[in-house]
Amino acid sequence: MAFNPLINNPITKWFLGLFSLDIGIDLGTANTLVNVRNKGIVINEPSWVAIDKKTKRPVAIGAEAKEIAGRTPANITAIRPLRDGVISEFEITEAMLEYFIAKAHEHSFVPIPSPRVVVGVPSGVTEVEKRAVYDATMAAGAREAFLIEEPMASALGAGLPVAEPLGSMVIDIGGGTTEVAVFSMGGIVLSRSLRVAGDEMDQDIIQYARNKYNLLIGERMAEKVKMTIGSAHPLWEEKTFTLRGRNLVSGLPEAVEVSSIEVREALAASVNTIVAAIKDAIDETPPEIIADLMESGVCMAGGGALLQGLCERLQEELKIRVWVAEDPMTCVARGAGRVLEDYDNLRRLLVGLERGSTAR
Ligand code: ADP
Ligand code: MG
Repeated sequence: MAFNPLINNPITKWFLGLFSLDIGIDLGTANTLVNVRNKGIVINEPSWVAIDKKTKRPVAIGAEAKEIAGRTPANITAIRPLRDGVISEFEITEAMLEYFIAKAHEHSFVPIPSPRVVVGVPSGVTEVEKRAVYDATMAAGAREAFLIEEPMASALGAGLPVAEPLGSMVIDIGGGTTEVAVFSMGGIVLSRSLRVAGDEMDQDIIQYARNKYNLLIGERMAEKVKMTIGSAHPLWEEKTFTLRGRNLVSGLPEAVEVSSIEVREALAASVNTIVAAIKDAIDETPPEIIADLMESGVCMAGGGALLQGLCERLQEELKIRVWVAEDPMTCVARGAGRVLEDYDNLRRLLVGLERGSTAR
C-alpha cells in the first residue's frame, strides 16, 4: 500500500515505461503476430508447431513448422494448436507463445524486464478459454496480461471510431473463424463468430478436386489456388491454375488445369455461409447504427478479406459500401498494441476474467 503513491506517480510510470516492453499479440488460428511498442510488427509467422511424437517436445515453431507440415517424417507431427479459434492444445500454445515472446525480446538492444501483453481472443469464447489464453500468456513470461476481443482489436487496428458514439462494423475473416461485430460507444453491440473461414475454403477446393477430377491435393496446394485465382465474384479476366496431386484411381501423379470459374464454384458454399451470417448481423443492427454504416461503410479485415471479388459480392448483397482495411492481416496485432499505447483511455475496451476461474 505504502508503495502505491510511488508507483502511480507519473514520473515513476514514465521511467518504468522506458524499460518495459509493451506487446500486442494476435494469436490467430493461421498466423501469430507480435507487435512491439515503438518497433512495430517484429514477428509474423504461421501458428504451427512441429512436435516430436516420442518426447512430445516441439522441434520447430512458426514458419519452419509449417514448412515441414505435410512432409513430416514418421516421428514428427505438425499441428496448429489454435485451429478452431480456441486453445485446444494448451501446452503447445504456451510453448509457441513463449518462443515468440522470447524472439520478440531478441529485437531489443537492452535486457528488458518481462513485457506487458495484450492478446486477442475470438469474441464469444468461454470463461475457460479466456483463462487458458491468459494463463498461457503469463506462463510464457508476461509480467501482466490483458485480453481483448479480436473484432475489437481488429476495428481499432483498422482505425474505426469504436470508442465514439458512432456505429461501425468489422468483418474479420481468418483461417479458422469469421468474426462479425458491430460497435458503438466502446462496446460490441452485437457479434457473430462462425467457424467457416479460410481453412474451410481450402477444404472446399480439396473436395472439389477429389469429386470432379479424382485428384488428391494437399492443403498447401489448395490454399495457393485460393489465393491465386479464388474469388467470390466474376473476375474481369478469368484465370487458370495447374493443380498437382495424385490421381485416386491410378495412384499416379497428375496435373490438372482448373479455371477461376471452377474454383469460385468450389468456394461458393463457404462464401454463401459467410455472406448469410453478415446479412443476419445487419438485420439485427439497430437502425441508427445502420444509418452510420451507410455513411462510413463496413470494414473487412483478416487474410480472408483478400479473397478476390469479396468486396464487390458483399456490396451487392448488403447494399452498403464495403472496404478492406489497410494491411488487413495485421489489424488485430496493431489494435492490441494501441491499447497499451493509450492504456488509460482504451483499457475499458479490454475483457475481464472472472475471479477464481481456472483453465484446467
Ligand atoms: P487468423 O487470424 O485466423 O490467423 P489471418 O487473418 O492470418 O487468420 O488469415 C489467414 C487466412 O487468410 C488463411 O486461410 C489464408 O489462406 C487466407 N488468405 C491470405 N491471403 C489470402 C488471399 N490473397 N486470398 C484469399 N485468402 C487469403
Ligand atoms: Mg485473426
